[in-house]
Amino acid sequence: MTPHADPQTGAAVKAADRAHVFHSWSAQGLIDPLAVAGAEGAYFWDYDGNRYLDFTSGLVYTNIGYQHPKVVAAIQEQAGRLATFAPAFAVQARSEAARLIAERTPGDLDRIFFTNGGAEAVEHAIRMARLHTGRPKVMSAYRSYHGGTATAINITGDPRRWASDSGTAGVVHFWGPFPYRSAFYAADEDQECARALAHLEETIAFEGPGTVAAIILETIPGTAGIMVPPPGYLAGVREICDRHGIVLVLDEVMAGFGRTGRWFAAEHFGVVPDLMTFAKGVNSGYVPLGGVAVSDRIAATFERRPYPGGLTYSGHPLACAAAVATIEAMEEEKVVENAAALGETVVGPALRALAERHPSVGEVRGTGMFWALDLVRDRATREPLVPYNASGEANAPMAAFAAACKRGGLWPFVNMNRTHVVPPCNITEAELKEGFAALDAALSVADEHTV
Ligand code: PMP
Repeated sequence: MTPHADPQTGAAVKAADRAHVFHSWSAQGLIDPLAVAGAEGAYFWDYDGNRYLDFTSGLVYTNIGYQHPKVVAAIQEQAGRLATFAPAFAVQARSEAARLIAERTPGDLDRIFFTNGGAEAVEHAIRMARLHTGRPKVMSAYRSYHGGTATAINITGDPRRWASDSGTAGVVHFWGPFPYRSAFYAADEDQECARALAHLEETIAFEGPGTVAAIILETIPGTAGIMVPPPGYLAGVREICDRHGIVLVLDEVMAGFGRTGRWFAAEHFGVVPDLMTFAKGVNSGYVPLGGVAVSDRIAATFERRPYPGGLTYSGHPLACAAAVATIEAMEEEKVVENAAALGETVVGPALRALAERHPSVGEVRGTGMFWALDLVRDRATREPLVPYNASGEANAPMAAFAAACKRGGLWPFVNMNRTHVVPPCNITEAELKEGFAALDAALSVADEHTV
């Protein structure tokens, strides 16, 4: 029996949850949340003695795993010294976190505006871009996720936007590159890249370049399917932005802080944005934290003119102390290097081997600890295993796949017709192999739903 794992307590936790917790993204009466008793490293367990290997990193944020002793101790120490202090003051944990982050972000992203999470970071990046340019419009990609707050959900390009999309004026969507399900009928990656850039250029021309404040893109779109862009795409977007005076915002909320085997995914492509949003891995989510890394050029706009925005808990000392400890631990334990090396030598090869054996795997994509299996009903047509945004009976094949993973002790990340392999960045090779064995068995269940 794992620590704190008493089934009676579990039942009480569950009963109070069902009575009083209103869960995100869910039909309240149709969900059955697992009561979690504890977690450590890459594992968590329930009150009935079931233990799971977490291939989700929570919501892709526990990049250093659960209960890292150094980070837990730093939060305890900060709580004892100065548990909170308002944002207008210089506080050691905050200034130290900002320095460590700025030293790792690419180029001249030297100033850090702190938020409590990713969506708020996106809201503020858009606001900075509009104030800096004096222009109203923001362009973002379909097949993207940027957060659940008012503007962030409007610029998001996935079906979760539909229900709350107010059709905010000034938001324009375009298609990014995705060779496996090309919106451009491209024959290969190079053609996909060229056509996606031409499409973006044409969209800007018809919107009026002088009206576009910002283009916001996930460096590697995550929630929408871990779609590594073709080489040259982001450099091409950078060039288009420069030519039209448009602010380039790269959203690294999911891809940042080691997830892709680099501190930031932008490093893979040699591109420096004007603004970069981050959250999640910055402190592995031990205390909510996010932010915007601001280039010197945009920071200069607000040197003599106030930036009209802020948050009560901006740069909260507990969250910042956790960020300092997380970044230090990642350096000491070579966590980013681990994600890069095991991604290339273990995860990529293992997933490609699974794809060879299982007809339900249409494509394997990713890098570092950031991978997706695109599951299909038919490999020839690439028809997804379940339709977009399926629920109930229509989603049964993915539900059966997820249930099989859990029976095998693996907690999977599932989204529409995909499963993402996004474990903690400090996972070991042995833990990965344990996960792949469970995945192998579960894919046999998915195979039953192929043509
Ligand atoms: N941007 C990206 C790329 C994300 O993946 C997410 C969360 N999944 C967000 C923004 C929103 O972050 P949060 O949920 O912390 O508001």
